[in-house]
Amino acid sequence: MLSKDEIIDILTDESKTEWLFSLADKVRKDNVGDEVHLRGLIEFSNICKQQCKYCGLRSPNKQIERYRLSEDEIIGCAENAINLGYKTLVLQSGEDDYYTVDKMVTIISEIKKYNVALTLSLGEKSYEEYKAYKEAGADRYLIRIETANKNLYRKMHPNMDYNNRIRCLKDLRELGYEVGTGCLVGLPEQTIEDLANDIIFFKEIEADMIGIGPLITHPQTPLKDEHNGSFWLALKVMALTRIMLPDINIPATTAMETLNPNGRLIALQSGANVVMPNVTATEYRPKYEIYPNKICINDNPDKCRGCISGKIMSIGRKVADTDGQSKHYSKNIK
Ligand code: SAH
Repeated sequence: MLSKDEIIDILTDESKTEWLFSLADKVRKDNVGDEVHLRGLIEFSNICKQQCKYCGLRSPNKQIERYRLSEDEIIGCAENAINLGYKTLVLQSGEDDYYTVDKMVTIISEIKKYNVALTLSLGEKSYEEYKAYKEAGADRYLIRIETANKNLYRKMHPNMDYNNRIRCLKDLRELGYEVGTGCLVGLPEQTIEDLANDIIFFKEIEADMIGIGPLITHPQTPLKDEHNGSFWLALKVMALTRIMLPDINIPATTAMETLNPNGRLIALQSGANVVMPNVTATEYRPKYEIYPNKICINDNPDKCRGCISGKIMSIGRKVADTDGQSKHYSKNIK
């Protein structure tokens, strides 16, 4: 295990970069193997009541065309993905109160009639809501802390509370979910020490999955004049996370591919073992614009699965045919 000073040193010292990526690749291979798990991502609503400063879906953004899928459309999208071979689906949205507990419970239980693992990424909810989703069959939940620096968190999330984000993570753990979190790399004023603290935070809360991506500035947000995050720095944070948390699941994130045309393959060779291809219908893809220039917005679910599978095989890895439960979860938590 690395100390905070060692993490900072590795993040700063350019001469250690290659060593870091190959060590993370080895730790990945030794602990979670060569299989890559595909998660079918359904972006079912871009309506959001929050105002995260970096995100294009923030409620004050009036230029974006909003959409929400009906319950039947979400279930149909899930069935399509299941027919394509997905063993895990992820339902993601803005914080949209249209989807009451009753509606979510119906969607979850309908999807869970099929033999798939179900991950939710709906933002901050109450303990009771998380409990109802779990009882309906949801297996996993993703909610990034975004940054473990409380001051920076406050600046980036007007009207939100860092402690509530932590409460969410604790509730999800207590309810028996496989818990995923993660951070953005390249937020304004974020330091290397902040990133080291993020990695230590992931370790402390014993996360089962960690998603890390560079900030990509959106023109219709208050961060429009800031710089994008660095692909390579995000990759280093991801590689260090693999070394610190050897048996978790780590996605090669879409934001990485947005900044580098080979971003996901490079990430898979630097510690990642998961990819989350989009399975949302083509017509909605451009509207889920959390950041600009998202990849694959003109593609369809079938094409995305074929494309990423080919890429995975091209680097000598294989696409898993299981639901890819986090080894960290099955060993320690379950
Ligand atoms: N409403 C859900 C899902 C948010 S979208 C929730 O609150 O968890 C999923 C992730 O996209 C966010 O956690 C955030 O880290 C990332 N994201 C949002 N805007 C971004 C941007 N401009 N650049 C890069 N990633 C972004």
